[in-house]
Amino acid sequence: MNDRLASLISALARQEPLAEEQFQALLDGMCPETAELLAQKAVETRKKIYGDSVYIRGLIEISNICKNDCLYCGIRRGNPHCSRYRLSPEDVFACGEEGYALGFRTFVLQGGEDPYFTDEVLTGIVAGLKERHPDCAVTLSMGERSRESYQRLFGAGADRYLLRHETADREHYAKLHPPEMSFDRRMACLRNLKEIGYQVGCGFMVGSPWQTNRSLAKDLLFIQDFKPDMCGIGPFVPHKDTEFWNQPAGTVELTCYLLSIIRLIHPAVLLPATTALGTIHPQGREKGILAGANVVMPNLSPESARKRYELYNNKLNTGAEAAQGLAALKERMAGIGYQVVTARGDIKK
Ligand code: SAH
Repeated sequence: MNDRLASLISALARQEPLAEEQFQALLDGMCPETAELLAQKAVETRKKIYGDSVYIRGLIEISNICKNDCLYCGIRRGNPHCSRYRLSPEDVFACGEEGYALGFRTFVLQGGEDPYFTDEVLTGIVAGLKERHPDCAVTLSMGERSRESYQRLFGAGADRYLLRHETADREHYAKLHPPEMSFDRRMACLRNLKEIGYQVGCGFMVGSPWQTNRSLAKDLLFIQDFKPDMCGIGPFVPHKDTEFWNQPAGTVELTCYLLSIIRLIHPAVLLPATTALGTIHPQGREKGILAGANVVMPNLSPESARKRYELYNNKLNTGAEAAQGLAALKERMAGIGYQVVTARGDIKK
């Protein structure tokens, strides 16, 4: 490792802000040695704040009906082979009951932009979950909505919102989305969510088509400036019914490298080792935690929904990926020295 890289890593570990070119130099310098050093610093930093705790979130995949046509996504509107479903409020409450009994204290409702979930319907679900489980956090990941809608959902009790920015590089964004989708609108949604008072998560796919270290440097700069409470990153994985069907998936190495850097940019950030990371490598979740992640999101959706919520092919949905496999997940985390805890797991500020 050359001196420049070593000093960049030290600066990052001291929480000094970096410039876009410096982030790019860090990415260009990725090798086993730099990855190891970053991971070591990231784990040290995370331990000071969160110890050896791993937070769990019960993921409820509420609908795979979507009005958008994101080019990479298996549930895009234009995929005629996707078998569509949506959960009813009662289905969601049943998932909540099951999850609560298993020890989950955060529920994440994620889905396509399904017009059925009007503010009226969704505020009913959020309020219903909070009424049944007042000690739990409710996180929404339901895409772009108006500021008024975000405000109403917050008023109904939603605590957190995940909206990946997907890429902070405007030109790259345009290559991953149809023309009717807007980079500026997505970024405005993120700002609105923050102003309203949500704990907010942004994030991006690693290794998506046309991504470069330059675009990733922009992602890192955006994260440094925006200061999200959560950041969801996982490898891009191709889906056979999209035009990216023959593109290579993102790698474990680059995903873990980025997890370490993001941990160092924001020591307290809630950082999941995602299902996509678990999908491309049998020890993906563990590798993510050992690179600096501190959250896992097992699946609480009903079995039939799980298979149909296919953002990408071969998505894991059994074993330690399933909420019902929590014992297995706990064992796997204990195996690398971490404890899965029953807690809301808010960001420590
Ligand atoms: N409609 C919501 C939820 C989207 S699904 C929203 O717009 O935020 C959650 C995330 O899955 C997306 O933000 C995207 O980053 C990721 N995703 C979609 N297709 C993917 C693929 N082929 N490989 C990996 N991740 C994918």
